[in-house]
Amino acid sequence: MWTADEIARLCYEHYQTRLPKQGKPEPNREWTLLAAVVKIQPATDQACGSANKPVQGDILNDSHAEVIARRSFQRYLLHQLHLAAALKENSIFVPGTQRGLWKLRQGILFVFFSSHTPCGDASIIPMLEFEDQPCCPVSIRWANKPSEEASGNPETPEDEKKYEDLGSPVTKKMRLEPGIPDGVAHCQSLDNQESGPVPPTVSSSNVPTQELATVAGRAPSGAKVVDVYRTGAKCVPGEAGDSGKPGAAYHQVGLLRVKPGRGDRTCSMSCSDKLARWNVLGCQGALLMHLLEEPVYLSAVVIGRCPYSQEAMRRALTGRCQNVSALPKGFGVQEVTIQQSGLLFEQSRGAVQAKRADSPGRLVPCGAAISWSAVPEQPLDVTANGFPQGTTRKAIRCLQARSQISKVELFRSFQKLLSSISEDKWPDSLRAQKLETYHEYKEAASTYQEAWSALRKQAFGSWIRNPPDYHQFK
Ligand SMILES: [Zn+2]
Repeated sequence: MWTADEIARLCYEHYQTRLPKQGKPEPNREWTLLAAVVKIQPATDQACGSANKPVQGDILNDSHAEVIARRSFQRYLLHQLHLAAALKENSIFVPGTQRGLWKLRQGILFVFFSSHTPCGDASIIPMLEFEDQPCCPVSIRWANKPSEEASGNPETPEDEKKYEDLGSPVTKKMRLEPGIPDGVAHCQSLDNQESGPVPPTVSSSNVPTQELATVAGRAPSGAKVVDVYRTGAKCVPGEAGDSGKPGAAYHQVGLLRVKPGRGDRTCSMSCSDKLARWNVLGCQGALLMHLLEEPVYLSAVVIGRCPYSQEAMRRALTGRCQNVSALPKGFGVQEVTIQQSGLLFEQSRGAVQAKRADSPGRLVPCGAAISWSAVPEQPLDVTANGFPQGTTRKAIRCLQARSQISKVELFRSFQKLLSSISEDKWPDSLRAQKLETYHEYKEAASTYQEAWSALRKQAFGSWIRNPPDYHQFK
């Protein structure tokens, strides 16, 4: 069995030792986020992690770390399907019971790691009364694991010591394999509010307690909730909306939200919403579902050290979909394990802020994103504002400028995989009709589409969808 700290440590180490300097934040001035998918397998060897951050591709308008990590993960899954189709024994996939379909080898699990809570609902976190006390002058407080949450200010020497002691060897049973593909974080959003919870700009300690129920609830410790950390993610049209009142009543919880930050706000749902969706539909997406007997689910989500609420995470990731039923065979609302690690990501906003003390200049999010996948060809992909770093304006439109984890490239890789399989071994969903565009391939993944429509109908009716013309490429 793994622990949250082991997962966090593997991801941080992978980031430090396996990812290039290019694309990482400039010391003392920039910060970033890290998200990864870690493969756990039953015995032996170790592995390769994946971590990362941000990238985004041609037309990819969503570069939050979670999204990049998920796309990098899809790239990894595609590679593993290539291995399986070529009958290689080292694939994580083995033949399923129906023609053309594969399933995960027994005992393989995936754990999602993020150095911060996902933007949106999971980042609306109660701020407790004791946090306002003068002994804690810092504007962001780092909560430890929930059980420790009320036990005092974590920024004590004792805690620092805890971090230094982390050098214990990573368990040999764990194998880390990183996913990452879809967009990590920040690349594009230059707005501080885009990621993770932020303390309210105005803090009021005189909020009447009855208002708390709507927002933050009451801390399990019984401490009075005086305010909430806020998310810059706005509610989607059709949802009730935030009250905007000062203090703990500021946000309405449990709502669908669009990503904070600049860019086209109408296109991207917040990471909390996406994680909740993956917990019902899987992380593989519609395309890969053509070749899989069951969705690929995350068995756990681990968050690094940051302001954190177990209740908010649970509500955002699983609470909203709990009663969804009538899903097609193989799909189901997962009981994902949610844990926090006490280990801080050294290039997170909080860590950089603490280190730089009074250095002049503004602290800004890093503009580049790094994607890494455990695949043999071009595992790394560094982008700035969505395109590979150094791309000229002229080159931006050409193929080379495209990120490996853009929809176009993932689709290309999917088609290449299909062409390596003889047509008589294709699954029924692909034999029924001649498919051409990305949109057609996605629509033809019938069980996936059926599950998605059940989820929308029962829980996520206001989800904003991309217009179909966005997906007409071949
Ligand atoms: Zn996000």
